[in-house]
Amino acid sequence: MAASYDAVVFDNDGVLTTPTDRDVLLEAIHDAFESVGVSNPSDEEIRTLLGPDRSSLRRVADHHGIDAAALWRARERAAIDAQRAEIEAGRKRVYEDVTALESLPVPTGIVSNNQHETIENILDNCALEPIEVWYGREPTIEGIARKKPTPYYLELAIEDLGARNPLYVGDSRVDVVAADAAGIDAAFVRRDHRLEYDLTDHEPRYEIDSLEALPELV
Ligand SMILES: [Mg+2]
Repeated sequence: MAASYDAVVFDNDGVLTTPTDRDVLLEAIHDAFESVGVSNPSDEEIRTLLGPDRSSLRRVADHHGIDAAALWRARERAAIDAQRAEIEAGRKRVYEDVTALESLPVPTGIVSNNQHETIENILDNCALEPIEVWYGREPTIEGIARKKPTPYYLELAIEDLGARNPLYVGDSRVDVVAADAAGIDAAFVRRDHRLEYDLTDHEPRYEIDSLEALPELV
């Protein structure tokens, strides 16, 4: 029984495009440290900057006596540039089943924890059906606080779409939590990189193994 959703909003990484190779991001973070004058970051500090909260970012910046905002700006710039190279080389690419978006009779959007500029680079380079609204995080410390599981960008996208009952499609627990917080249903797409991924306590309304299941749900 279709639930008559009036829009579909997608997470990007692991849903529309392949995730970015972790080593590419680690190398970008290493470059970012270097660009702000830190030539000897520890492996742990580099890993921390993969997905810091504000306090862990500050701790790392303080340890090197540098400004946290400047470190984060450099980190985001390096990640945007490295991911753009991956996109342009075809290593970060859309999944084949994104063609299912063409069969959706409702408007679509993207809400990603990746940088807004990275989402724009994907839209510029990849064949994705018209996406009406997209939000990635701002490349600032504020952007860290606003990313999922916080529903901040998801709520903005829903408002922009004028949707009353949208469906959010993700591949992470944070996607399910953000959808819950926004008061909307979530569909979890279990691709190969999520075969063992545990959703206990974060149960989505639907679990699908391909975007091809979406037209029927909507
Ligand atoms: Mg994802």
